[in-house]
Amino acid sequence: MQELSVMFTMDCEPAKIDVTAYGSMMSASGPDDYQESERSIRAYVATVKQAGFSTTLFAHPEVAAAHSQLLLELQDEGACLGLHVHPYKLKGGRYQHDLGAYSSPAQRQILREASDVWEEALGQKATYFRAGYFSANDFTFGVLKELGFKGGSLSIPGRILPEHCSVWAGADPYPHRAHLGFRQLRGDSDFIEIPVSMDFERPTNRGAANEQGYEWLYIPAERYEHPEIVRHIVQRVHAEAHPHGVIVTDTHNDQDYSQGDHPARVNLDLTLRSIERCCAEVGVRPVGATVARLCDRLRLEQKHEGTMGLGG
Ligand SMILES: [Zn+2]
Repeated sequence: MQELSVMFTMDCEPAKIDVTAYGSMMSASGPDDYQESERSIRAYVATVKQAGFSTTLFAHPEVAAAHSQLLLELQDEGACLGLHVHPYKLKGGRYQHDLGAYSSPAQRQILREASDVWEEALGQKATYFRAGYFSANDFTFGVLKELGFKGGSLSIPGRILPEHCSVWAGADPYPHRAHLGFRQLRGDSDFIEIPVSMDFERPTNRGAANEQGYEWLYIPAERYEHPEIVRHIVQRVHAEAHPHGVIVTDTHNDQDYSQGDHPARVNLDLTLRSIERCCAEVGVRPVGATVARLCDRLRLEQKHEGTMGLGG
């Protein structure tokens, strides 16, 4: 039976006590304190695990510091850890913009600072990345590669949100090697990009971040039809028979997944049930994946394809 990888992610934002008023104005997501954050993260990971899948947690540096024990414990149990950065939420308040607004040297500086704090807290190098608002420009993949990152989930195909420097119109919707010159294209670099999954049949002019684009599996989104989104994504991936078809979701650590009747928990349960049902309908088996596993697999398979190509 054909398999379909399923990657549940969470962007773990610093608690509001760690963010300036300006930072909170730029991005309102995030828990009030780290107790709320821990409750959200633990219950999300447990619910996803109960359904047989694993979680990828992109943690802002302050979260890595506040939750170092929790994150390492969850990593031991199978979660994958990555770095998440909104420059204006970093301690010190030196940055005013989203990542995609910066030059290549400035992005290098921001990401190096953030990585250093993350690494100090967790005792390991950050190798996977996602920026706040999925903000990036054509320098971003190259800078990440130079800094030793192996991959990430930076893109949200179809999004047009220039006020947060997040424009992904026309971006490749499947996992691929990043193109270091033009971010929307499939390239041949060693940096692997795993885009979040979009429902191209549900365009919107007012998405969860007030963007133009498509509905997608942002779990807390109140206006999205999660079961329909899952159905369209599974049908598209199945119809296109893409070798790297995946379902990639996202959420934040400010949703109380421990409460069965919390709207985000209701959406999570709906999404999990829809994945199971829609995969069964088209005869594919959903399999849990993390950003690390998907990046490793794509790198290995394409190396193998390359070798075969040379022989033939
Ligand atoms: Zn964020």
